Amino acid sequence: MKRLLFPLLILLIISCNQSPKAPVLADQNEAFDLWKLAMVEEMCENNPVWASYLGKHNYDDQLPSPSKSNRDKELAFWSKVQSVIDTFRMNSLNDNNKIDLLIIKDQIESEKFYSEELKPYEWNPSNYNIGGAFYQVINYKNAPLEDRISSLIEKLEYVGEYYQHAKENIKFPTEVHTDLAIQQIEGSKSIFTETLMDSLNASNYDDDFKEQFSNRIQIAVQHIDNFLAFLKDDIKPQLSSKAKSFRLGKDLFFKKFKHDIHSSYDAEKIYQFAEKEKELLHNKMEKLAKDLWPKYFDNKPLPEDRFTLIASVITEVSKLHVHRDSFVVSIRKQIPELEAFVQDNNLISLDPDKPLVVRETPEYMRGFAGASISSPGPFDANAETYYNVTPLDHYTAEQAESYLREYNNYTLQILNIHEAVPGHYTQLVYSNKAPSIIKSIFGNGAMIEGWAVYTELMMLENGYGNGSKELDLMYYKWNLRTVCNTILDYGIHVNEMNEEAAMDLMTRQAFQEQSEAEGKWRRARLSQVQLCSYFTGYYEIRALREEMKEKLGDAFNLKEFHEKFLSYGSAPVKYIRELMLAELEAKKS
Ligand code: ZN
Ligand code: ZN
Repeated sequence: MKRLLFPLLILLIISCNQSPKAPVLADQNEAFDLWKLAMVEEMCENNPVWASYLGKHNYDDQLPSPSKSNRDKELAFWSKVQSVIDTFRMNSLNDNNKIDLLIIKDQIESEKFYSEELKPYEWNPSNYNIGGAFYQVINYKNAPLEDRISSLIEKLEYVGEYYQHAKENIKFPTEVHTDLAIQQIEGSKSIFTETLMDSLNASNYDDDFKEQFSNRIQIAVQHIDNFLAFLKDDIKPQLSSKAKSFRLGKDLFFKKFKHDIHSSYDAEKIYQFAEKEKELLHNKMEKLAKDLWPKYFDNKPLPEDRFTLIASVITEVSKLHVHRDSFVVSIRKQIPELEAFVQDNNLISLDPDKPLVVRETPEYMRGFAGASISSPGPFDANAETYYNVTPLDHYTAEQAESYLREYNNYTLQILNIHEAVPGHYTQLVYSNKAPSIIKSIFGNGAMIEGWAVYTELMMLENGYGNGSKELDLMYYKWNLRTVCNTILDYGIHVNEMNEEAAMDLMTRQAFQEQSEAEGKWRRARLSQVQLCSYFTGYYEIRALREEMKEKLGDAFNLKEFHEKFLSYGSAPVKYIRELMLAELEAKKS
């Protein structure tokens, strides 16, 4: 508490010592910067587990229980933040801080909504998986092993109290979240019995300490087992008659959409845009499939049904793929080609000092096949950024073939654009140039995903792929998935969409494999709103670009637009839009 009040005092002193009419810009920004840091520090103190994930390890020995009093404390913290933030004058802040201020205000609203209305602590038992909280500590390789273990022996003390409050919280959980909790919490036990025990044995501690530590591990595992028994024996049997529906319902979905996405549009509008987009994509795909048909099927007559037609051509085009052993190599080879294209076509400047490291996904991160960018946490910003690609070693021949058809020669290029250049990785390099602890922590997912999705379109518009119809077709399939994610999410949580309709949407209308669609049906019931973020961000970035084109006419320059857009960091598109339009107005007058 002290930490938060101290900068407030500085701020008041600054404003008292100067005439109110002369807000020295630097002072307000300086005060705001100081206050932000103090606020984040206090958040870390209140949320030690969250802090370890951010790379901040001062509070690793703590494990606050999910109690009512801790929730009240959290809300009191945010009220205090509210009262301080109201003292800053928006107009005297620079662009970076203006957006930070708006993001913090949104965060206050969001915290209230989660705590008082959404209440996932009552219905989502998978929130009570503490495996990661311990794993983040033991895996922090910058600290000596003995220090980490000494934090953990303290942390272990709180497991019993933690699960006591977890039990009190759970009211009417959903069946899918209960099943997920049982599966994940069961799986988390090996972190205690194996990972932590192995680390203990490798440490320099004496036998007395080791015995004490392993006793605490045993007790912690008993508490976990006890909680699992509670879920399986007390909660599960009741669920057939009084489980909470996995459907969020219109009211909560609209609110969650507002708090998670920060779009200029509401959920319903975005859903309507997505429905329209699906129709447009189907028309384009049908035309391409007709054009490609003779190349793959000679004189065979065209199927009458458009979905059968498109699906048949997609199946043929997907057969062109790399060998399973060269999956990682071929991705590594493609990055410089993408960079060259971006540079030759003046699409956006790339920083030659920050090459992306393509590596095989480390074992401990595997589990989901595929590719991902892993970037350092905000408190560990000098660490390298990796493009993790999981090799197909563990796949059977059949699994590998199915996976490689999904990531065929065409789709693999779209994936690399999305994940690496000029998608996620390029965006990350830009956002690190305007460092903001607030945006690192509360980075807007819709903007981040929207940018990656937007770059796929943008590359093709600018001639990437030399007009290959196969590439276009596979791009539309990929883009259609993004569009259908929104339709599915809204459909399930607002429109009572059933499993049959969901599977039809994904497999027949969006040409997805059965196994992919099944996985998505599960994910869509477990998460709410998140699946809308990709399309929403994409839609808004595309619309903003068209708006700027319209306003600037011949003066519009695509490269300048991209660099300006990314210069604001990972902020909601609607705030970036406001600032870009304001700057344009200021230039005119
Ligand atoms: Zn094959
Ligand atoms: Zn992405």
